[in-house]
Amino acid sequence: MRLAIVGAGIVGLNIALESLKRGIEVTIFEEASDVGRGASGHTAGVIHVLQLPFKSWKSRLALKGNPIYDSLSESLGFRIRRLPALLAYRNYAEKAAAFVVAKYLKFKGFKVKLIDKRATKDLCPDISRHIKGSIKVDGYGTVIPLEVLKAYVKFLKERSVEIHFNEKVIEVKSEDTKPELITTKNTYTFDKVIVAAGGGTKDLIQDIGNLEFVKGTMVLTKGIDCNAIVAALFSKTRNKKTKGGGIIPWPDGRVLFGPSFEETNSPWDTNASERDAKETLGRYLDLLDSSPKIVEYFAGTRIKAPPKYDFIVKKEKNVIVIYGIDSPGFTAAPALARHVVDSL
Ligand SMILES: Cc1cc2nc3c(=O)[nH]c(=O)nc-3n(C[C@H](O)[C@H](O)[C@H](O)COP(=O)(O)OP(=O)(O)OC[C@H]3O[C@@H](n4cnc5c(N)ncnc54)[C@H](O)[C@@H]3O)c2cc1C
Repeated sequence: MRLAIVGAGIVGLNIALESLKRGIEVTIFEEASDVGRGASGHTAGVIHVLQLPFKSWKSRLALKGNPIYDSLSESLGFRIRRLPALLAYRNYAEKAAAFVVAKYLKFKGFKVKLIDKRATKDLCPDISRHIKGSIKVDGYGTVIPLEVLKAYVKFLKERSVEIHFNEKVIEVKSEDTKPELITTKNTYTFDKVIVAAGGGTKDLIQDIGNLEFVKGTMVLTKGIDCNAIVAALFSKTRNKKTKGGGIIPWPDGRVLFGPSFEETNSPWDTNASERDAKETLGRYLDLLDSSPKIVEYFAGTRIKAPPKYDFIVKKEKNVIVIYGIDSPGFTAAPALARHVVDSL
């Protein structure tokens, strides 16, 4: 079977890898000159565990996708840092609430433990002395998103998968026999086409409705000693869409703060100002005793998830369209790819 994939984000690349394993001949089309233009190149790098709503398909895909990254890290050669997450509490009222939350999470099957101030400090020496303890959630990981994407491309190219960079797909004709792909350079026919174009999907496929976008600023720092992802158990700035953000140690020793949350009209908005960066960093400083040094800041845009919104996979004739891949799409991508390739 000859398969075309539109979009070399984490979803498209995982589908390519999964298809390759099953002997399918794959060609990828990517509008940009390299990987990382879309959301996948501008994420916080967390391989997630807890994702509300727990019953949603995307939350279940994330739990399935998470452990697959260990074997992918070995076979593709990118770094993954395994570490717990700490939901930190500041006072004794929050401690009582933490007890209830921990019990609920345990009941839901997550690996959680209430730990005291000293155990919290052992895991994250730079955490603020005002933190009284935390809920420790096991099973998280962090990756450097661009390193992951580049490792996929190297692995796929070495196995003769064609990746057409700088080639935008402008139309997908879902014919009865073989779908036709019209690009800025050529017209092709394939046996099947998978559209995994992230925010670009709405321009390519007419009837998927309006996609809205949100941008998050993230700040990379150095000089922080912490071996856990840290977030406040109760944060004034958290809501369903921001999911709170946190302090996120990356595999190379840098520590990311964020993301923030802001509406935007463009799916490819990566603009962040120094002011955004300082504001984002400032949201987390009360969780720490030391001051980090900013080494880099950037923003990423993803699809906005309204309440109850879930990943959508639509199949029509020989064309599969995947859209609405919001957070935690990076974590879920390997499991989503298995599901999609199973349905080819
Ligand atoms: C600030 C932020 C933080 C995040 N943090 C996390 C996190 O910590 N963990 C997590 O699991 N998820 C996270 N996410 C979510 C995650 O990044 C996305 O869900 C995921 O990357 C979506 O991947 P994708 O492949 O669907 O889209 P994209 O990465 O956007 O890829 C789509 C690709 O398609 C290409 N394309 C578009 N149109 C065309 C066309 N017509 N022809 C050819 N190519 C085309 C684009 O150039 C792009 O490369 C975060 C997102 C943001 C914005």
